[in-house]
Amino acid sequence: MATEKTSAVVLRLVDFSESSCVVTLFTRDFGKIAALAKGARRPKGPFDSALDLLAICRIVFIHKTTGALDLLTEAKLERRFRTASRNLSRLYAGYYTAELLMELTEIADPHPELYAEAERTLIDLDHDANLAQTVLRFELSLLQQLGYLPSLDVCALCGTAVPVQRRIRFGPVAGGILCDACRPGQRQVVSLSPEVLQILRQALAGEADSELDADHPRFRGELRGVMNHYLTNLLGHPPRMQRYLGTLST
Ligand SMILES: [Zn+2]
Repeated sequence: MATEKTSAVVLRLVDFSESSCVVTLFTRDFGKIAALAKGARRPKGPFDSALDLLAICRIVFIHKTTGALDLLTEAKLERRFRTASRNLSRLYAGYYTAELLMELTEIADPHPELYAEAERTLIDLDHDANLAQTVLRFELSLLQQLGYLPSLDVCALCGTAVPVQRRIRFGPVAGGILCDACRPGQRQVVSLSPEVLQILRQALAGEADSELDADHPRFRGELRGVMNHYLTNLLGHPPRMQRYLGTLST
């Protein structure tokens, strides 16, 4: 058993007993962890009010051997996710961030860059950043860090360049865009406009373009459609928060 210190985002809280709960955290240095927080449900418990959904904390925990829950010994609040009282779409986007981290990351598999991106996303959602753009950037960054990024430049199957003058075929099962030769026989293929493909590429590169904005009414429906389709295929079911995201208009 080792005592560890790190930063963490609170992903889930489940009551365990009258006074304790099990908290799932996405940590910077240890990936996702599940820890018992004794006394967390008492009004003046040892964690004060740090264990709040989507809060960013500094934590100390005792790492148990395989199979046992870790034991949370300290949690100090660094930043509370405050958007709940102001904007429901932003709150849902925050829950969606937690859901994707919960579902797609593994226990004890650290991804410090993804942790930084998760913190940045929660802070941006709180700070009135462009909602559709913020969510898209997080989704793509998460897929990239975890090795699930769809191919957006070349055909996912044969690796040849795909011309973008007209609509492009995108195969969630194949893992990205498809050339004309590879398209036949592929399942669940959807059609992408060149603009939406460009928005995806730019979001991945961290570029912003006022002409090609993920929040633009012309693109956001198609954009949500392709991302939802891809993530549903990856998870094996639609993300729970997906239907609450709507088209992510602010
Ligand atoms: Zn091909």
